Amino acid sequence: MPLIGAHVSIQGALCNAFERARSINCTAFQMFTRNPRGWKAKKLEKKDFNDFISELKRTELFPIAHMPYLPNIASPDANNYERSVSILAEELQKCHCLRIPYLVTHLGSHMGTSEEEGIERVTSACNRAIKESEGNSMLLLENTAGQKNSVGYTFEQLERCLSLVEDQKRIGICYDTCHGFAAGYDIRSAQKVDSFIKDFEDVIGLDRLKMIHSNDSKGDLNDHLDRHEHIGAGKIGLEGFKSFLSVKEIRDLPIIIETPQDSLEQCLNDIKTLWDIVSAKI
Ligand code: ZN
Ligand code: MN
Ligand code: MN
Repeated sequence: MPLIGAHVSIQGALCNAFERARSINCTAFQMFTRNPRGWKAKKLEKKDFNDFISELKRTELFPIAHMPYLPNIASPDANNYERSVSILAEELQKCHCLRIPYLVTHLGSHMGTSEEEGIERVTSACNRAIKESEGNSMLLLENTAGQKNSVGYTFEQLERCLSLVEDQKRIGICYDTCHGFAAGYDIRSAQKVDSFIKDFEDVIGLDRLKMIHSNDSKGDLNDHLDRHEHIGAGKIGLEGFKSFLSVKEIRDLPIIIETPQDSLEQCLNDIKTLWDIVSAKI
């Protein structure tokens, strides 16, 4: 069964995410396990964990967690860095308790220090979070669009981060198609996808790729713009997604949309497009 999903809200209760995802034809979904825009998180009660796990068993959907927005695990500021690492560890531990296999994290901003220092801080954050949490939930590093001072927009940088993590079983990559396109990785045709796959395999290894953020891009190739668009309506286009998602190694991964949440109709339409592509209907 293909794993197709969207980012869904946890409003009301964490376990509500399952029914929201199911109601829009998802077999997988991504969520925040807390308010994504604040530093403080409400403490989860035993009931939250129990309800979540019973919905997990009932629906058999594949849940994925995403880190909140404020932490910066590449930050040169000691206070900010410590707070960020402790949230990373907390979220990873929460994933273990909730039986969520993957936690997606951005690599953050080195704030003008240097790429290499940024990478070192990211990897030591990952090492600490992995050591401080139980179980085997994996941290997935998400590629970035290459905005000013951002870390992780080339395959080489991502590989460097992966290689510096001690527990290799607990680290992988979440590839965002919009961010990648903005950073210069073209997937607009079968031919471009071929060389993309070859490049990814050579530099990082396809076995490290664990999930896809499937977003079209408002900005052009190499624009470094992090602006998502509905599938087929942006600069990557339908042909690009058909080529990219029909690669077996990609099609078999959880594929999650993070397209603009402007209407239910467009969201359903994006999900239908993914289903049509992976079942080779278009
Ligand atoms: Zn993300
Ligand atoms: Mn993303
Ligand atoms: Mn983005």
